[in-house]
Amino acid sequence: MKASTGRTIVICCALLVILVILAACVDADTARLFAPHSHTGPRARGGRLDLRGANLSRPLPLDGEWLFYPRALIGPDQLDTLPPPVPIKVPALWNHQVVAERPFGAHGFGTYRLDLLLDKPLEPHYLRVSEISTAFRVYAGEALVLRGGEVGTSPHTTVPAWITTTRRFLPQREELTLLVQVANFHHARGGIRDELLISRQPNLLSAIQARRNFSWFVFGALLVMGIYHLGLITVRTRERSTLWFGLVSVLMALRATLTGQPALIDADSLAMWELLMTLEYFSMYVGFTLFFLYTAALFPQEMHQPVLRAIQILGMSFGVLTLVTPARIFTATLYGFHVMAVLGSAYLVYVAFRALRAGRAGAAVYAAGMVLLWVTVVNDVLYNLGVIRTGYYTDVGLLVFLFFQSLALATRFAANVRRIEELLAERNRLESLTFRDSLTGISNRRHFDLTLSKEWTRAQRHSQPLSVIMADIDEFKAYNDNYGHLLGDKALTQVAHTLHNTLNRSSDFVARYGGEEFAVILPSTTDEGALKIAETMRGAIEALCIEHRYSGLIDVLTASFGVATAIPHRDGSSDSLLSAADQALYRAKQNCKNCVM
Ligand code: GH3
Ligand code: MG
Ligand code: MG
Repeated sequence: MKASTGRTIVICCALLVILVILAACVDADTARLFAPHSHTGPRARGGRLDLRGANLSRPLPLDGEWLFYPRALIGPDQLDTLPPPVPIKVPALWNHQVVAERPFGAHGFGTYRLDLLLDKPLEPHYLRVSEISTAFRVYAGEALVLRGGEVGTSPHTTVPAWITTTRRFLPQREELTLLVQVANFHHARGGIRDELLISRQPNLLSAIQARRNFSWFVFGALLVMGIYHLGLITVRTRERSTLWFGLVSVLMALRATLTGQPALIDADSLAMWELLMTLEYFSMYVGFTLFFLYTAALFPQEMHQPVLRAIQILGMSFGVLTLVTPARIFTATLYGFHVMAVLGSAYLVYVAFRALRAGRAGAAVYAAGMVLLWVTVVNDVLYNLGVIRTGYYTDVGLLVFLFFQSLALATRFAANVRRIEELLAERNRLESLTFRDSLTGISNRRHFDLTLSKEWTRAQRHSQPLSVIMADIDEFKAYNDNYGHLLGDKALTQVAHTLHNTLNRSSDFVARYGGEEFAVILPSTTDEGALKIAETMRGAIEALCIEHRYSGLIDVLTASFGVATAIPHRDGSSDSLLSAADQALYRAKQNCKNCVM
């Protein structure tokens, strides 16, 4: 097991290297979408950002201090008649931002404003928005360039959306005013949550496509892994871990279509948006619970039952909550889930190391994957809270983890199959031992009885004749007494092999029945044929010319044969056939010896 674990780790590392190389092949601008990081470019201050001289051949985040008009949806034509704005941080939730001396709260509407200075107007620019919660409209100068859902002033007039999108636009002057109208009445967190990116190259478009492709890859890989393991469970119903693994994989495949930035499915109607939010949160809670069940099935000794029970109850109740309440309510449970996810996966790391210390099979691979996954979970939580600006990574962490795990499961599976093969071979060896006569090496009486009853049934089914020959060496007591037991044994073995060699058909069968008695089964053989074979056998033994001067017949060892044939009936039995052959042998002994009856 140690060796195979080592091999698994080597394979995993090799594949990880391939993954890293693949990731490195992605160009820098795409990588920026995978991992937005703090930048050295200019930052907005007091609602103004000077981009003259900035390198816009790469995507630049428009972050810093913007201006905000609370409870006002302002278009470019209303710029002159504006109420005084307040400063606001972008990107950040608006929930806790202080507007008019108190936190803005989750639900409401307002307009963000940023005045840009550009050095190359009249050249095409590109703008990307993502994670604006939940309806938005973006004006660049006079033009409406991006929108998601329907911005309104009440829950009834607002339609939420979940869209990451990029659009090309043409600034008309050096000064450009960006207006972002945002309304949120359906989610527990509102505002511009992720950075807006600006660029003078179409790289933003290809980067979004690359991220989409990656999400499809994650989706496909997880789905295939899930279906494979769910398929396995149909033949191995007792392997609980395989079931939980398959379910986690399929659920996470589903999730990968929702949470990649951008999501693979755009939501721009209220029903679709609610459905996607429900799926996202449901898969999160239920997936987490299944993950615990999977670990418990792998390492039942190391997982504490009360912890497992608590996670099951929590996960399932929150899962049900997402199904029965609107997103406005269940999205508020996210912080609770953050705590559960960070502490829960830390506990799983602890379980992994306990399993490692106990030397459980597959513990090393699990522990390595779990540490990695825990790091990505913590990263995602911190990113979601706006503490760090790295991007979401749990899908990647989960993919790598599940990939490691499916390798470990496959290794375990292969080891089990190998073990079964060994056991089967061992069983065959033992079985052949119990059916073999140790002196002569041909079949023994036990094997004979079994074969006779099988052949009897078969002959009965096909209404075929079945013959039995009983043979007994003549005057063998005298042989033993005069030549000794050692030569007696040798003669017995020779006779046995001779009888065996006279058989032609693969279905013919010979066994040592007792001391110096042998029994032959001849399926589908008439009495005529059986008599012929018995005669051949008799001649063959005589032809061995084993000296036997004390036999009183001729000077070599001989045997007598009794033959019986039957076409088995429903009410007959193989015993009657056997005793008929025995009686024939008895008559041969009485009448002639070295003859066939
Ligand atoms: P018959 O012609 O009537 O068959 O006379 P027989 O002497 O062959 O018959 P009997 O049954 O009286 O003697 C069987 C002898 O076979 C007894 C024993 O010495 C010998 N025998 C039985 N099993 C073995 C064995 O495994 N090895 C040896 N060397 N002799 C055996
Ligand atoms: Mg005998
Ligand atoms: Mg005998």
